[in-house]
Amino acid sequence: MSIDPSGSLTFLGGAGTVTGSKYLVRAPRATVLVDCGLFQGLRELRRRNWQPLPAPAAGIDAAVVTHAHLDHCGYLPRLVRDGFAGAVYATPETVRLAEIVLRDSAHLLEEEAAQANEHGWSRHRPALPLYTGKDVDRCLEQFIELDYGVETKIADGVRCRLYNAGHILGSSWVKLTLDGLPGAASQSSTIAFSGDLGRPRHPLLRPPEPFDGADTLLVESTYGDRRHDDLTSSSRFQDAITSTLKRSGTVLIPAFAVDRTEMILHELTELTRRGVLHDVPIHVDSPMALAALDVYRKALEMRRPQFLPTITDQGLAALFPPRLQLARTAEESRRIDVANGPRIVISASGMATGGRILHHLSTALPDPRNTVLVVGYAAEGTRARELARGATTLKIHGRYVPVRARVVDLPGLSAHADYPEVLDWLGTAPAPKTTYLVHGEPAAAEFLRERITERLRWTAVVPRPTEMVLLP
Ligand SMILES: [Zn+2]
Repeated sequence: MSIDPSGSLTFLGGAGTVTGSKYLVRAPRATVLVDCGLFQGLRELRRRNWQPLPAPAAGIDAAVVTHAHLDHCGYLPRLVRDGFAGAVYATPETVRLAEIVLRDSAHLLEEEAAQANEHGWSRHRPALPLYTGKDVDRCLEQFIELDYGVETKIADGVRCRLYNAGHILGSSWVKLTLDGLPGAASQSSTIAFSGDLGRPRHPLLRPPEPFDGADTLLVESTYGDRRHDDLTSSSRFQDAITSTLKRSGTVLIPAFAVDRTEMILHELTELTRRGVLHDVPIHVDSPMALAALDVYRKALEMRRPQFLPTITDQGLAALFPPRLQLARTAEESRRIDVANGPRIVISASGMATGGRILHHLSTALPDPRNTVLVVGYAAEGTRARELARGATTLKIHGRYVPVRARVVDLPGLSAHADYPEVLDWLGTAPAPKTTYLVHGEPAAAEFLRERITERLRWTAVVPRPTEMVLLP
């Protein structure tokens, strides 16, 4: 492979897919990686986690992580294992949440490898985890907290500033300034990364800070071809809960441990405040969700500026509905009597691919009094997607379970901006020289590219995986 010139950008992940976000920036005197995510979902994608990066990990000087979701930070421990010794810049909340997410990830990877060895599933003998808890320990030592709005030098000739992205607690969009680019008119060039962009109406967090221009822009397109329907989603959420409780059923909500759990708890406190819900036990059953909830609680107590002012004023009451019960141990989880409602149970994993939600689903699905709410992005090939599509049976722990419970799919409760919201975010900023649509399935990225070209008359491109481009 030829040597890349300085002043280039390479799409190592998050191109043509929603996972594996990794963008390599080569400045004249330093190389920086923005986001370092894991590929997730179908086997073909996961296999990419094992392919060596086109740039040696030891040659990367620094990394920046936009937020703590696994598809943005989950490859970091592997990068460290492969020789990356630089600093990782992220907001204080991202650092705290990333620790929870990465430890859980290492645990799952180690468990998977152990099972593969036990049952002989893998072609590799022995099957090894992508990384271990020890790699996570080393990786966590490399994090450096960087708060919003502070420009700092992260490598020779590279400055970085983080802006609130309103997607999950601690999430940011990033602007890098590269100095001394050969041939650049002003000798410096700016490049902005949207990360995952939140919605203007997140119930807890302030909306994203508006984009204010950059020479180059990378913008996400997860819901690049969709428009969320907020009113319908929240009234369907309320209806599903009240009708289930009325027939003494259990409401089961598979939820992503970070942010979706907090958002649902807040919705439930609101329903309680409005007198819609009373005296119903609400369980959060996931150690990882409880650890993340603790990070939200501390940030709320510190009155961190990312929360909406109304939420800061409400304080902990905004997140902790009455009769909230936290199940930390496996024994506490087993004691949740899903078969005898009325009650509400929030448990992970969000796509029902594993975790404690599975034993609750086995109990709850055969009973028509119960309801399962699908509240987040459900990828192809997951149980949550099968349920949302109307499956009549679901395979759990090797057995087919009949689905007689009601299933309500609520994609509108997503934490990603839809395409009109992305266009609003781009808003009145001066046109970048080039805008790249990343973090989307091909159809969604292409749809958003067309809207940006038509409406804003910007030069917009959907990059190919591993493509390299020169910076202006
Ligand atoms: Zn995210």
